[in-house]
Amino acid sequence: MIFIALGSNVGDRLAYLRQAIAAMGAFFTIKKSSPVFETEALLPEGSPPAWNRPHCNMVIAGESALSPEALLQRLQEVEHRLGRPPDHLFHAPRTIDLDIVLYHNQKVQTERLTIPHKGLEDRLFLRALLAFLGKTPYPPEESYIPLRSFVLEPKLVGIVNATPDSFSDGGRHLNPDDAVRHMKALEAAGAAVVELGAQSTRPGYTEVSPQVEIERLAPIVERYQGTACLGVDTYFDEVVEYALQHSFLWMNDVKGQLCETTIKKIADCGAQLVTMLCGTDYSWFEERVKTLVHLGMRKENILLDPGVGFGKTRSENLDAIRLCPKLRDYGCPILLGPSRKSCLSSFSPVAAAERDIETLGICASAEADYLRVHAVEDHMRFFVAQQSVLPLLDTEDSRNSHKACPRRACTS
Ligand code: AMP
Repeated sequence: MIFIALGSNVGDRLAYLRQAIAAMGAFFTIKKSSPVFETEALLPEGSPPAWNRPHCNMVIAGESALSPEALLQRLQEVEHRLGRPPDHLFHAPRTIDLDIVLYHNQKVQTERLTIPHKGLEDRLFLRALLAFLGKTPYPPEESYIPLRSFVLEPKLVGIVNATPDSFSDGGRHLNPDDAVRHMKALEAAGAAVVELGAQSTRPGYTEVSPQVEIERLAPIVERYQGTACLGVDTYFDEVVEYALQHSFLWMNDVKGQLCETTIKKIADCGAQLVTMLCGTDYSWFEERVKTLVHLGMRKENILLDPGVGFGKTRSENLDAIRLCPKLRDYGCPILLGPSRKSCLSSFSPVAAAERDIETLGICASAEADYLRVHAVEDHMRFFVAQQSVLPLLDTEDSRNSHKACPRRACTS
Protein backbone atom coordinates (compact mmCIF):
# COMPACT_ATOMS: atom_id res chain seq x y z
CA MET A 1 0.00 0.00 0.00
CA ILE A 2 1.16 3.56 -0.76
CA PHE A 3 0.30 6.48 1.54
CA ILE A 4 0.20 10.02 0.18
CA ALA A 5 -0.22 13.17 2.27
CA LEU A 6 -2.16 16.09 0.83
CA GLY A 7 -2.11 19.62 2.21
CA SER A 8 -3.51 23.01 1.23
CA ASN A 9 -3.48 26.40 2.93
CA VAL A 10 -4.61 28.79 0.22
CA GLY A 11 -8.08 29.58 -1.11
CA ASP A 12 -10.82 26.97 -1.00
CA ARG A 13 -8.63 24.34 0.64
CA LEU A 14 -11.09 21.45 0.60
CA ALA A 15 -11.81 22.12 -3.07
CA TYR A 16 -8.07 21.89 -3.84
CA LEU A 17 -7.86 18.58 -1.97
CA ARG A 18 -10.83 17.25 -3.98
CA GLN A 19 -9.31 18.45 -7.27
CA ALA A 20 -5.96 16.86 -6.44
CA ILE A 21 -7.58 13.53 -5.60
CA ALA A 22 -9.57 13.64 -8.84
CA ALA A 23 -6.40 14.39 -10.85
CA MET A 24 -4.47 11.61 -9.09
CA GLY A 25 -7.12 9.13 -10.24
CA ALA A 26 -5.18 8.82 -13.52
CA PHE A 27 -2.26 7.03 -11.82
CA PHE A 28 -3.33 6.17 -8.26
CA THR A 29 -6.20 3.93 -7.12
CA ILE A 30 -7.53 5.12 -3.78
CA LYS A 31 -8.52 2.51 -1.22
CA LYS A 32 -9.22 4.72 1.77
CA SER A 33 -9.04 8.36 2.89
CA SER A 34 -8.44 9.84 6.32
CA PRO A 35 -10.56 12.74 7.53
CA VAL A 36 -9.13 16.20 6.86
CA PHE A 37 -7.43 17.92 9.78
CA GLU A 38 -7.02 21.65 9.98
CA THR A 39 -3.59 22.23 11.52
CA GLU A 40 -1.51 25.26 12.37
CA ALA A 41 1.25 26.20 9.94
CA LEU A 42 4.66 24.90 11.09
CA LEU A 43 6.96 27.76 10.14
CA PRO A 44 10.61 28.52 10.78
CA GLU A 45 11.29 31.60 12.89
CA GLY A 46 11.29 34.82 10.91
CA SER A 47 8.75 33.63 8.30
CA PRO A 48 6.53 36.39 6.89
CA PRO A 49 3.33 36.70 8.98
CA ALA A 50 1.30 36.22 5.78
CA TRP A 51 2.56 32.62 5.63
CA ASN A 52 0.89 31.83 8.92
CA ARG A 53 -2.29 30.27 7.53
CA PRO A 54 -3.74 27.01 8.80
CA HIS A 55 -3.41 23.98 6.58
CA CYS A 56 -5.94 21.34 5.66
CA ASN A 57 -4.13 18.01 5.77
CA MET A 58 -5.18 14.47 4.95
CA VAL A 59 -3.68 11.14 3.94
CA ILE A 60 -4.93 8.73 1.32
CA ALA A 61 -3.95 5.10 0.93
CA GLY A 62 -3.94 3.27 -2.36
CA GLU A 63 -2.04 1.52 -5.12
CA SER A 64 -0.09 2.62 -8.16
CA ALA A 65 1.96 0.84 -10.79
CA LEU A 66 4.46 3.73 -10.80
CA SER A 67 7.88 3.62 -9.18
CA PRO A 68 8.48 6.10 -6.33
CA GLU A 69 10.37 8.48 -8.67
CA ALA A 70 7.71 8.29 -11.39
CA LEU A 71 4.99 8.78 -8.79
CA LEU A 72 6.73 11.90 -7.44
CA GLN A 73 6.94 13.24 -10.99
CA ARG A 74 3.18 12.77 -11.55
CA LEU A 75 2.35 14.28 -8.15
CA GLN A 76 4.43 17.34 -8.95
CA GLU A 77 2.60 17.70 -12.27
CA VAL A 78 -0.69 17.75 -10.33
CA GLU A 79 0.75 20.37 -7.93
CA HIS A 80 1.67 22.59 -10.87
CA ARG A 81 -1.67 22.10 -12.57
CA LEU A 82 -3.40 23.23 -9.38
CA GLY A 83 -1.49 26.48 -9.35
CA ARG A 84 1.65 25.76 -7.41
CA PRO A 85 4.62 27.35 -9.21
CA PRO A 86 7.71 25.15 -9.77
CA ASP A 87 9.93 27.69 -7.93
CA HIS A 88 7.67 27.75 -4.88
CA LEU A 89 9.46 28.59 -1.60
CA PHE A 90 9.60 25.71 0.87
CA HIS A 91 7.29 27.01 3.62
CA ALA A 92 5.26 29.48 1.58
CA PRO A 93 1.46 29.04 1.41
CA ARG A 94 0.44 26.51 -1.20
CA THR A 95 -2.71 25.61 -3.07
CA ILE A 96 -1.64 21.99 -2.83
CA ASP A 97 1.23 19.94 -1.49
CA LEU A 98 1.50 16.23 -2.29
CA ASP A 99 4.04 14.06 -0.49
CA ILE A 100 4.74 10.34 -0.61
CA VAL A 101 4.68 9.30 3.04
CA LEU A 102 5.16 5.54 2.69
CA TYR A 103 5.67 3.33 -0.35
CA HIS A 104 4.89 -0.26 0.62
CA ASN A 105 7.65 -1.16 3.04
CA GLN A 106 10.38 0.40 0.91
CA LYS A 107 13.02 2.81 2.13
CA VAL A 108 14.10 5.33 -0.51
CA GLN A 109 16.93 7.81 -0.11
CA THR A 110 17.83 9.72 -3.25
CA GLU A 111 18.53 13.33 -4.08
CA ARG A 112 14.84 13.95 -4.76
CA LEU A 113 13.13 11.53 -2.42
CA THR A 114 13.15 10.42 1.18
CA ILE A 115 10.69 7.65 2.04
CA PRO A 116 9.41 7.20 4.72
CA HIS A 117 8.76 10.95 4.52
CA LYS A 118 10.80 13.04 6.95
CA GLY A 119 7.64 14.66 8.30
CA LEU A 120 6.77 11.43 10.09
CA GLU A 121 9.49 12.25 12.60
CA ASP A 122 7.92 15.40 13.99
CA ARG A 123 4.45 15.92 12.50
CA LEU A 124 2.11 14.42 15.03
CA PHE A 125 -0.89 15.20 12.86
CA LEU A 126 0.57 13.07 10.09
CA ARG A 127 0.88 10.05 12.36
CA ALA A 128 -2.62 10.66 13.69
CA LEU A 129 -3.99 10.78 10.13
CA LEU A 130 -2.19 7.55 9.20
CA ALA A 131 -3.77 5.83 12.17
CA PHE A 132 -7.23 6.41 10.59
CA LEU A 133 -6.01 4.24 7.72
CA GLY A 134 -4.90 1.43 10.02
CA LYS A 135 -1.27 2.35 9.58
CA THR A 136 0.72 2.86 12.74
CA PRO A 137 4.38 2.55 11.78
CA TYR A 138 5.43 4.53 14.84
CA PRO A 139 3.74 4.60 18.23
CA PRO A 140 1.09 7.19 17.26
CA GLU A 141 -0.71 7.52 20.48
CA GLU A 142 0.59 10.89 21.58
CA SER A 143 -2.76 12.51 21.08
CA TYR A 144 -3.17 15.15 18.44
CA ILE A 145 -6.13 17.49 18.44
CA PRO A 146 -6.82 19.31 15.17
CA LEU A 147 -8.08 22.89 15.03
CA ARG A 148 -11.08 21.51 13.10
CA SER A 149 -11.82 18.46 11.06
CA PHE A 150 -13.67 17.83 7.82
CA VAL A 151 -14.71 15.17 5.35
CA LEU A 152 -14.57 15.70 1.58
CA GLU A 153 -17.70 13.60 0.99
CA PRO A 154 -20.60 14.23 1.23
CA LYS A 155 -20.26 17.85 0.18
CA LEU A 156 -22.28 20.31 2.22
CA VAL A 157 -24.10 23.26 0.73
CA GLY A 158 -24.66 25.95 3.36
CA ILE A 159 -27.83 28.02 3.17
CA VAL A 160 -27.90 31.80 3.63
CA ASN A 161 -31.40 33.24 3.34
CA ALA A 162 -31.26 36.95 2.66
CA THR A 163 -35.02 37.13 2.96
CA PRO A 164 -37.44 38.49 5.54
CA ASP A 165 -39.79 35.48 5.29
CA SER A 166 -37.92 32.16 5.16
CA PHE A 167 -39.68 29.28 6.87
CA SER A 168 -36.68 28.24 8.93
CA ASP A 169 -34.71 31.38 9.81
CA GLY A 170 -36.69 34.21 8.20
CA GLY A 171 -35.02 37.59 8.55
CA ARG A 172 -31.87 36.53 10.37
CA HIS A 173 -29.53 37.22 7.47
CA LEU A 174 -31.35 39.98 5.62
CA ASN A 175 -28.89 42.50 7.02
CA PRO A 176 -25.79 42.24 4.76
CA ASP A 177 -23.29 42.27 7.64
CA ASP A 178 -25.13 39.40 9.36
CA ALA A 179 -25.30 37.52 6.07
CA VAL A 180 -21.56 37.93 5.50
CA ARG A 181 -20.77 36.79 9.05
CA HIS A 182 -22.87 33.71 8.47
CA MET A 183 -21.17 33.05 5.12
CA LYS A 184 -17.75 33.18 6.78
CA ALA A 185 -18.95 30.75 9.45
CA LEU A 186 -20.22 28.33 6.78
CA GLU A 187 -16.94 28.68 4.89
CA ALA A 188 -14.92 27.93 8.05
CA ALA A 189 -17.13 24.92 8.77
CA GLY A 190 -16.15 23.44 5.41
CA ALA A 191 -19.18 24.17 3.20
CA ALA A 192 -18.41 23.15 -0.40
CA VAL A 193 -20.86 25.80 -1.57
CA VAL A 194 -22.31 28.82 0.25
CA GLU A 195 -25.72 29.34 -1.32
CA LEU A 196 -27.47 32.70 -1.11
CA GLY A 197 -31.21 32.93 -1.53
CA ALA A 198 -32.98 36.27 -1.86
CA GLN A 199 -36.47 34.86 -2.32
CA SER A 200 -38.24 32.44 -0.03
CA THR A 201 -39.90 29.66 -2.03
CA ARG A 202 -41.66 28.15 0.95
CA PRO A 203 -45.24 26.98 0.24
CA GLY A 204 -47.52 29.99 -0.27
CA TYR A 205 -44.71 32.55 -0.67
CA THR A 206 -45.23 36.00 -2.16
CA GLU A 207 -42.95 36.42 -5.14
CA VAL A 208 -40.48 39.30 -5.33
CA SER A 209 -39.02 40.51 -8.64
CA PRO A 210 -35.53 39.71 -9.95
CA GLN A 211 -34.58 43.33 -9.26
CA VAL A 212 -35.46 42.91 -5.58
CA GLU A 213 -33.42 39.69 -5.43
CA ILE A 214 -30.41 41.48 -6.92
CA GLU A 215 -30.87 44.43 -4.53
CA ARG A 216 -30.77 41.99 -1.62
CA LEU A 217 -27.76 40.08 -2.97
CA ALA A 218 -25.58 43.00 -4.09
CA PRO A 219 -24.58 44.45 -0.68
CA ILE A 220 -23.75 40.95 0.55
CA VAL A 221 -21.66 40.10 -2.49
CA GLU A 222 -19.84 43.43 -2.23
CA ARG A 223 -18.92 42.82 1.40
CA TYR A 224 -17.97 39.16 1.21
CA GLN A 225 -14.25 38.56 0.80
CA GLY A 226 -13.82 34.87 1.26
CA THR A 227 -12.79 31.70 -0.45
CA ALA A 228 -16.04 29.72 -0.61
CA CYS A 229 -17.64 28.68 -3.87
CA LEU A 230 -20.71 30.93 -4.08
CA GLY A 231 -24.14 29.76 -5.14
CA VAL A 232 -27.49 31.39 -5.68
CA ASP A 233 -30.96 29.98 -5.25
CA THR A 234 -33.02 31.64 -7.97
CA TYR A 235 -35.23 30.89 -10.94
CA PHE A 236 -34.78 34.29 -12.63
CA ASP A 237 -32.51 34.66 -15.66
CA GLU A 238 -31.54 38.19 -14.61
CA VAL A 239 -30.34 36.98 -11.21
CA VAL A 240 -28.31 34.15 -12.76
CA GLU A 241 -26.75 36.71 -15.12
CA TYR A 242 -25.81 38.88 -12.11
CA ALA A 243 -24.43 35.85 -10.26
CA LEU A 244 -22.27 34.71 -13.19
CA GLN A 245 -20.85 38.22 -13.48
CA HIS A 246 -19.84 37.97 -9.82
CA SER A 247 -18.08 34.60 -10.14
CA PHE A 248 -20.82 32.44 -8.65
CA LEU A 249 -20.31 28.85 -9.74
CA TRP A 250 -23.55 27.27 -8.49
CA MET A 251 -27.10 28.04 -9.64
CA ASN A 252 -30.04 26.40 -7.88
CA ASP A 253 -33.08 26.68 -10.12
CA VAL A 254 -36.12 25.42 -8.22
CA LYS A 255 -38.53 25.94 -11.12
CA GLY A 256 -36.63 24.68 -14.15
CA GLN A 257 -37.70 27.75 -16.10
CA LEU A 258 -34.34 29.38 -16.91
CA CYS A 259 -34.17 30.19 -20.61
CA GLU A 260 -31.86 28.42 -23.04
CA THR A 261 -29.52 31.40 -23.37
CA THR A 262 -29.05 31.47 -19.59
CA ILE A 263 -28.34 27.75 -19.43
CA LYS A 264 -25.77 28.10 -22.22
CA LYS A 265 -24.08 30.88 -20.23
CA ILE A 266 -24.00 28.67 -17.13
CA ALA A 267 -22.45 25.90 -19.23
CA ASP A 268 -19.87 28.26 -20.76
CA CYS A 269 -18.77 29.42 -17.31
CA GLY A 270 -18.33 25.79 -16.17
CA ALA A 271 -20.80 26.53 -13.35
CA GLN A 272 -23.02 23.93 -11.73
CA LEU A 273 -26.80 23.89 -12.13
CA VAL A 274 -29.19 22.28 -9.69
CA THR A 275 -32.30 21.04 -11.43
CA MET A 276 -35.21 20.13 -9.23
CA LEU A 277 -38.16 17.81 -9.64
CA CYS A 278 -41.44 19.33 -8.55
CA GLY A 279 -43.93 16.48 -8.05
CA THR A 280 -43.29 12.77 -8.40
CA ASP A 281 -42.80 11.98 -12.10
CA TYR A 282 -39.17 10.88 -11.81
CA SER A 283 -38.88 10.10 -15.52
CA TRP A 284 -38.89 13.92 -15.98
CA PHE A 285 -35.17 13.84 -15.12
CA GLU A 286 -34.38 11.86 -18.26
CA GLU A 287 -35.70 14.54 -20.64
CA ARG A 288 -34.33 17.32 -18.47
CA VAL A 289 -30.80 15.95 -18.45
CA LYS A 290 -30.94 15.43 -22.23
CA THR A 291 -32.06 19.04 -22.74
CA LEU A 292 -29.36 20.44 -20.45
CA VAL A 293 -26.62 18.36 -22.08
CA HIS A 294 -27.87 19.50 -25.48
CA LEU A 295 -27.45 23.10 -24.27
CA GLY A 296 -23.81 22.43 -23.38
CA MET A 297 -23.98 21.43 -19.70
CA ARG A 298 -21.58 18.67 -18.68
CA LYS A 299 -23.31 15.91 -16.74
CA GLU A 300 -20.95 16.35 -13.81
CA ASN A 301 -22.19 19.95 -13.51
CA ILE A 302 -25.88 19.02 -13.46
CA LEU A 303 -27.15 18.31 -9.95
CA LEU A 304 -30.35 16.32 -9.69
CA ASP A 305 -32.51 17.30 -6.74
CA PRO A 306 -35.58 15.13 -6.05
CA GLY A 307 -37.21 18.26 -4.57
CA VAL A 308 -38.09 17.53 -0.96
CA GLY A 309 -40.96 19.88 -0.08
CA PHE A 310 -41.90 20.75 -3.66
CA GLY A 311 -45.24 19.52 -5.02
CA LYS A 312 -45.31 16.40 -2.85
CA THR A 313 -47.33 15.02 0.02
CA ARG A 314 -45.50 14.24 3.26
CA SER A 315 -45.10 10.58 2.41
CA GLU A 316 -44.05 11.42 -1.16
CA ASN A 317 -41.37 13.66 0.35
CA LEU A 318 -39.99 10.75 2.37
CA ASP A 319 -40.17 8.61 -0.79
CA ALA A 320 -38.10 11.25 -2.60
CA ILE A 321 -35.35 10.76 -0.02
CA ARG A 322 -35.54 6.97 -0.30
CA LEU A 323 -35.40 7.21 -4.10
CA CYS A 324 -32.14 9.20 -4.21
CA PRO A 325 -29.93 6.25 -5.19
CA LYS A 326 -32.17 5.53 -8.22
CA LEU A 327 -31.34 8.95 -9.63
CA ARG A 328 -27.78 7.73 -10.16
CA ASP A 329 -29.02 6.05 -13.36
CA TYR A 330 -28.99 9.48 -15.05
CA GLY A 331 -25.22 9.84 -14.56
CA CYS A 332 -25.28 13.14 -12.65
CA PRO A 333 -24.44 14.01 -9.04
CA ILE A 334 -27.37 14.09 -6.62
CA LEU A 335 -28.34 16.89 -4.27
CA LEU A 336 -30.75 16.49 -1.39
CA GLY A 337 -32.28 19.42 0.46
CA PRO A 338 -34.32 18.15 3.43
CA SER A 339 -33.06 20.74 5.91
CA ARG A 340 -35.73 21.77 8.46
CA LYS A 341 -38.50 21.06 5.91
CA SER A 342 -42.08 20.49 7.04
CA CYS A 343 -42.12 16.83 5.93
CA LEU A 344 -39.93 16.17 8.99
CA SER A 345 -43.00 16.96 11.08
CA SER A 346 -44.53 13.67 9.89
CA PHE A 347 -42.43 12.05 12.62
CA SER A 348 -41.39 14.93 14.89
CA PRO A 349 -43.33 17.75 16.57
CA VAL A 350 -40.44 20.23 16.87
CA ALA A 351 -40.56 23.70 15.28
CA ALA A 352 -38.86 24.32 11.91
CA ALA A 353 -35.84 26.16 13.35
CA GLU A 354 -35.20 23.22 15.73
CA ARG A 355 -35.18 20.44 13.13
CA ASP A 356 -31.42 20.04 12.64
CA ILE A 357 -31.22 16.68 14.43
CA GLU A 358 -34.01 15.31 12.24
CA THR A 359 -32.24 16.75 9.18
CA LEU A 360 -29.02 15.07 10.26
CA GLY A 361 -30.80 11.74 10.65
CA ILE A 362 -32.10 11.99 7.10
CA CYS A 363 -28.74 13.15 5.71
CA ALA A 364 -26.90 10.33 7.45
CA SER A 365 -28.98 7.69 5.71
CA ALA A 366 -29.52 9.42 2.37
CA GLU A 367 -27.28 8.61 -0.56
CA ALA A 368 -26.55 12.03 -1.98
CA ASP A 369 -23.35 13.69 -3.15
CA TYR A 370 -24.43 17.13 -1.94
CA LEU A 371 -26.51 17.89 1.12
CA ARG A 372 -28.08 21.33 1.31
CA VAL A 373 -28.30 22.16 5.01
CA HIS A 374 -28.56 25.04 7.45
CA ALA A 375 -26.35 23.54 10.18
CA VAL A 376 -23.13 22.89 8.23
CA GLU A 377 -20.85 22.72 11.26
CA ASP A 378 -22.96 20.09 13.04
CA HIS A 379 -23.28 18.01 9.90
CA MET A 380 -19.53 18.18 9.30
CA ARG A 381 -18.78 17.08 12.88
CA PHE A 382 -21.19 14.19 12.47
CA PHE A 383 -19.70 12.98 9.17
CA VAL A 384 -16.13 13.25 10.50
CA ALA A 385 -17.04 11.05 13.45
CA GLN A 386 -18.82 8.61 11.16
CA GLN A 387 -15.88 8.40 8.74
CA SER A 388 -13.40 7.95 11.58
CA VAL A 389 -14.79 4.55 12.52
CA LEU A 390 -15.11 3.06 9.05
CA PRO A 391 -13.29 -0.29 8.79
CA LEU A 392 -9.50 -0.01 8.69
CA LEU A 393 -7.51 -1.17 5.70
CA ASP A 394 -6.49 -4.77 6.03
CA THR A 395 -3.07 -4.74 4.44
CA GLU A 396 -0.08 -6.84 5.18
CA ASP A 397 1.63 -3.68 6.42
CA SER A 398 -1.15 -2.89 8.89
CA ARG A 399 -1.34 -6.49 10.13
CA ASN A 400 2.37 -6.30 10.89
CA SER A 401 2.06 -2.97 12.61
CA HIS A 402 -0.72 -4.36 14.80
CA LYS A 403 1.56 -7.20 15.79
CA ALA A 404 4.15 -4.66 16.83
CA CYS A 405 1.56 -2.86 18.94
CA PRO A 406 -0.25 -5.39 21.17
CA ARG A 407 -2.71 -2.92 22.73
CA ARG A 408 -4.11 -2.04 19.31
CA ALA A 409 -4.27 -5.69 18.37
CA CYS A 410 -6.67 -6.39 21.24
CA THR A 411 -8.85 -3.38 20.52
CA SER A 412 -9.09 -3.65 16.73
P1 AMP B 1 7.36 20.06 -0.46
O1 AMP B 1 7.44 21.52 -0.29
O2 AMP B 1 7.03 19.31 0.79
O3 AMP B 1 6.42 19.64 -1.58
O4 AMP B 1 8.80 19.56 -0.90
C1 AMP B 1 9.09 19.31 -2.24
C2 AMP B 1 10.41 18.60 -2.41
O5 AMP B 1 10.61 17.59 -1.45
C3 AMP B 1 10.37 17.94 -3.78
O6 AMP B 1 11.20 18.65 -4.65
C4 AMP B 1 10.86 16.53 -3.55
O7 AMP B 1 11.95 16.23 -4.39
C5 AMP B 1 11.27 16.51 -2.08
N1 AMP B 1 10.89 15.25 -1.42
C6 AMP B 1 11.69 14.49 -0.66
N2 AMP B 1 11.05 13.41 -0.18
C7 AMP B 1 9.77 13.49 -0.64
C8 AMP B 1 8.63 12.67 -0.50
N3 AMP B 1 8.66 11.53 0.22
N4 AMP B 1 7.48 13.04 -1.12
C9 AMP B 1 7.44 14.19 -1.85
N5 AMP B 1 8.49 15.01 -2.03
C10 AMP B 1 9.67 14.67 -1.44
